[in-house]
Amino acid sequence: MLKTLFPTLGRVRFTVQILMLFLTVYGGALLGSYTVDRISQALPALSCAYDKMTGDHCILIVNQHQLHHRVGEALVKAQDITLKVFIPVAMSVGVFFMFFFLLNKAFCGWVCPLGTVQELLYRIGRRLGRPLNRLQPGNVGRVRPVKWLMLLVLVLALPTMAGMGVVSNELGDPFCQVCPSRIATTLLTADTEQIAVRTSTTVNFALGALGNAMFGFVVIAALAARQPFCRICPLLSWNALFQKLSPMRLVKKDAHEKCEKCGVCEKACPMDIHEIGTEFGKKAFHEDCTMCGRCAEYCPDDDVIQLKFFGFRLFGSSREHYKRRVRAETPEGAPKQRVIDVRVNKPKGENG
Ligand code: SF4
Ligand code: SF4
Ligand code: SF4
Repeated sequence: MLKTLFPTLGRVRFTVQILMLFLTVYGGALLGSYTVDRISQALPALSCAYDKMTGDHCILIVNQHQLHHRVGEALVKAQDITLKVFIPVAMSVGVFFMFFFLLNKAFCGWVCPLGTVQELLYRIGRRLGRPLNRLQPGNVGRVRPVKWLMLLVLVLALPTMAGMGVVSNELGDPFCQVCPSRIATTLLTADTEQIAVRTSTTVNFALGALGNAMFGFVVIAALAARQPFCRICPLLSWNALFQKLSPMRLVKKDAHEKCEKCGVCEKACPMDIHEIGTEFGKKAFHEDCTMCGRCAEYCPDDDVIQLKFFGFRLFGSSREHYKRRVRAETPEGAPKQRVIDVRVNKPKGENG
């Protein structure tokens, strides 16, 4: 008896089918376009969107429209971004990493033209008898953060902000505008264009004047102090970020029993890195190191400081090399035989 009161499942399904047929075919006419629009967004079904009275939209037309107008356009933009942003950035960063992986900071000590120009000027200063100015540990510590600030502001922040239109387009390459290497290397090719200060805008004029002032300062300072620009160079801080990744290393073994803490390596270091004489292990390979190798050349004890590539010793300090080196030049870079053993006799003319 009870069974006959409830319809069969087949009957219920048929009823639902008829109701849905009305909804999907005549829903627009029955419920009004606003309600239909709500329902179609919540319940996409297979009624045709071309049916003007429909109560919903077929999911397939929604899919096609979204792929056509949204996904397709987004892919074109993504392709554009890939070609115009990711690939160029990946290429330049990749090439930098390949170069850096092999050389580590030896780029500074062995390749960089501005590093070489500063070193040549310093040698000229020594031969002209200019007084040597060494930075004391306290002053070195105060200067060290500047290179990070230069990287952050001039190389990263301002160019990005210029690209976003937040600051003037003229600030797109502010470091290049003040970089003394730009002027030094072009002057070496007899090209004087780069010392001309553009007066078209205040920003151009300020950057050009600052660049020339920086160049003048570096030329004069390099006669009396070693590597003055390197202390604040953003490329040094950029390299320092990754210096632990390279197989090229400056190694001073942990608690090396032969190191007498004589301090000769500190005097030889053009970057006034005091840690090379007082520290061991990772702390001795400082973020300011340019891997010039002078500390290893002037350390008078065998194998205390080494230059290594993939763990292989390229050069190691030795008594013999030290003797040959000081016969030609003091650790501070003064020419000729003015010193026999700097641990006993201070070189003439040394202020530091
Ligand atoms: S610190 Fe800068 S200027 Fe100095 S050698 Fe390295 S890259 Fe060149
Ligand atoms: S020169 Fe050699 S022995 Fe002297 S402090 Fe430096 S690492 Fe030690
Ligand atoms: S620590 Fe040694 S290799 Fe590094 S900059 Fe100083 S002298 Fe050159």
